[in-house]
Amino acid sequence: MYITVNTKPIYVFILTIGLMFSSCENEVIEEVSKESDIVSVDKEELVEVNLNGTMVMVEDVGNEYYAIGDQMFLKTLFDNDDSGSAQKSVGKIGNRWPDNTVPYIIESGYEAYIKEAIRHVELFTNLRFVETDGTDPYALIFYDGGGCSSTVGYIDEAEHSNYISVNCSSAGSIIHEIGHAVGLWHEQSRADRDEYIEVFFDNIISGQEHNFQTYVAQNLDGDEYSAFDFNSIMLYDSFAFTSNGQATMRKIDGTSFSANRTSLSFRDIKGLSTMYPVATPKLFSITGDNGLYVSSENGSKSITCNRTEVGPWEEFEFIPIGLGNFALRASNGKYLTYDSDANSLLFNGDDLGNSQKFTVTEYSYGQSDLFYGSWYYHLTPKGGIQGFNINDEDGTVTIGSNNEFRITLLN
Ligand SMILES: [Zn+2]
Repeated sequence: MYITVNTKPIYVFILTIGLMFSSCENEVIEEVSKESDIVSVDKEELVEVNLNGTMVMVEDVGNEYYAIGDQMFLKTLFDNDDSGSAQKSVGKIGNRWPDNTVPYIIESGYEAYIKEAIRHVELFTNLRFVETDGTDPYALIFYDGGGCSSTVGYIDEAEHSNYISVNCSSAGSIIHEIGHAVGLWHEQSRADRDEYIEVFFDNIISGQEHNFQTYVAQNLDGDEYSAFDFNSIMLYDSFAFTSNGQATMRKIDGTSFSANRTSLSFRDIKGLSTMYPVATPKLFSITGDNGLYVSSENGSKSITCNRTEVGPWEEFEFIPIGLGNFALRASNGKYLTYDSDANSLLFNGDDLGNSQKFTVTEYSYGQSDLFYGSWYYHLTPKGGIQGFNINDEDGTVTIGSNNEFRITLLN
């Protein structure tokens, strides 16, 4: 019945260390997708409904849902003052998926995108997705709804109420919708957004202004778990829903911004990690191109890649610490640390800083399990004979198999 949770997804990646992190941060997010790919719920009649005593404008998309942008809400949550507890917590504070687990059913196409998106969220958060069958009344259902949209947060007030419509243009767009499904609002709907962006309501397509209101203005509950994030996968771009070609949002300094529809940002991950705290750390093994396992050597010497079996010294946690950056923690509780003076890599770091940053800079959706990397210092296992070495220091050297590592989820 349960299929995916312990299939031990395998990833190949380039383990690199980013000592020049800040100067390259903006290069990580490059892909921009048009918001029309993201918000494509069929536009139906706009109606004013009572939500928690406040009248808000929503789209009546038929059946049992209203839509605000690409977020869908059960009609039963509206027009009923007694159901306030459910509607108030539908945002970021409540309506969490129990046990950090999202049972799901695919009743649509786009399965490759869905699986890639799920794998991405599983890798970078504490959430697990378990494929189940139609007998679970609260499973998240991926279906062809003619658009790219989602319910927000876990809904258990009514059966068969957790939906994502997956007529989306990329796995990244589905990651955005999964963000809604697990409880994220749009970034521009944050209560504090006016400190970071200006919204130009005169430029917004008539009837779409509600997409640019804060959750507070919509009388929905929520919280901010990290600082405003222009890299968030939950942020619209500056020209979303423009009626006249002019920006609908700009940064406070007047510049425009684009939308990330590639991957969860560091702060997305941080927020989701706060909403869904880790119960059991996710442990990975790391395999070099020599087919052997990386060992922490328990911190006693520079790491090696020469083990034939996985024991505690070959189990690692990936700790997200910056946009596309991770620290590795070994079973001794220490972080892998690059010592430039000794040119060594030891699991001996107690704190997180630049010397503990490792980078996954690009991920290839759909085709393979490859992570590609290009950064300043690449690690090579050197056939497992010696400790890891630091080379390719100018960041321009072509990545070779010596820089590729396969990471495998162990639990
Ligand atoms: Zn959205």
